[in-house]
Amino acid sequence: MATIQFWGAAQTVTGSKHLITTANQKQILLDCGLFQGKVDNREDRNRHFGFKPYDLDYVILSHAHIDHSGLLPRLIKEGFKGVIFATPATISLCEIMLLDSAFIQREDLKHVNKRRIRRGEIPIEALYDVDDVEQVIDLMVPVEYEETITIEKGIQLTFTDAGHLLGSASVHLDLTEKDNTKIKLTFSGDIGRFNDQILRTPQPFRPCDVLITESTYGNRLHPRGYDAEQEFLSVIKQTCIHQKGKLIIPAFSVDRTQDIVFMLNKFANKGLLSHIKVFVDSPLSVKATEVIKRHQECYNDEFLAYLKTDDDPFGFQNLTYVSDVEQSKKINDYKGPCIIISASGMAEAGRIKHHIANHLHQPENTVLLVGYCTPESLGGRLKAGEKEVRIFGEMFQVKCNVVSMDYFSAHADYEEILRYLDHLKPQKVKQVFLVHGDQPAQLHLKTLLEQQGFQHIAIPQVGEQFNL
Ligand SMILES: [Zn+2]
Repeated sequence: MATIQFWGAAQTVTGSKHLITTANQKQILLDCGLFQGKVDNREDRNRHFGFKPYDLDYVILSHAHIDHSGLLPRLIKEGFKGVIFATPATISLCEIMLLDSAFIQREDLKHVNKRRIRRGEIPIEALYDVDDVEQVIDLMVPVEYEETITIEKGIQLTFTDAGHLLGSASVHLDLTEKDNTKIKLTFSGDIGRFNDQILRTPQPFRPCDVLITESTYGNRLHPRGYDAEQEFLSVIKQTCIHQKGKLIIPAFSVDRTQDIVFMLNKFANKGLLSHIKVFVDSPLSVKATEVIKRHQECYNDEFLAYLKTDDDPFGFQNLTYVSDVEQSKKINDYKGPCIIISASGMAEAGRIKHHIANHLHQPENTVLLVGYCTPESLGGRLKAGEKEVRIFGEMFQVKCNVVSMDYFSAHADYEEILRYLDHLKPQKVKQVFLVHGDQPAQLHLKTLLEQQGFQHIAIPQVGEQFNL
């Protein structure tokens, strides 16, 4: 009998890893994510999978976010020799995002190991390095959306667009067992929004017997019916025109930054930005923007129509992309009003910390938070209204404005999750597993799904195994 075992994103939102073993003893891993943020035994869980990587036959990757893809290089280091299936855009994003992850780990460890060596302790080895990333890319096989491929006899794979990140997919497996029983399994991956500026809405898919769905916002609704462009524009006008200050935006380098730049591009085309300079200060953003430009197969119809009027939606006069460190430092010397977009989104790492530290003390400036921030992150502390924050070990007074806009979230809220599932006949789905969510969100979503008529809904724990 086929089984599924949950090794990550089980009652948490990180480290996505779900292991399917078919009745024919083939092992398929859905996603291979890194545990990020505050997780018990994080180091240990990122080093030890709980299963044997060399026993795996296939990995199927839903999308390139590091909490779904970030341990693929480690998997190879630990002996995985199979094939990794992903959409073409996911492969392109993995090339830059996994390299960035390897680089960040190396930089972080430099500091940690300096301290360890001083204390006479053994230095910690990185989870993986650049060479391991290159091997991941070599093992990746592209599969287009809506194309059904036979991986091997009895295992068919189809991706549908999940609308969450460029290349993001829901995974559909059709398993035919030795005794000819058939299992139709769907793994949602992360589900996107129904109002993305660039990506399609999450696409419908064929009926399934087994559903594994994310539940990140299983107890939350994003704000409805407000005009995000107007709100963003009014923050820009207030900060950069009325107060002559600087607008600092911490944003993830991939997708969120391009969303913001595209909105600014629309403002620029309407002449609304006048002389305000915009800096995108992140080497990864520069590379990600190039990848997004290349993968037009992921665009929605409105964005494709926009391209007919403006062939460079991520570029306009007064916009400067900055990769170089020295150039990044020079942004601080710029005297006039400006907008600085930099990573990371929670302001926990990267160049954004310098920009925030340099601008917090001036009341004319604004920090605009555009995505989810964990409470302990710098972004989270600013969002909570703290009047003094620690950055690089030093205390800084918060005198500038702090504004947050929820519009840019990339995860479906619970109404959108139900909308994504609404073409399924709940009674026909035999088993539902809720993953990628904290417990309150999962319990709320479970109740909602039961009200829709779904039955046998499990909230798996780490290591828990179920028969399919
Ligand atoms: Zn994601």
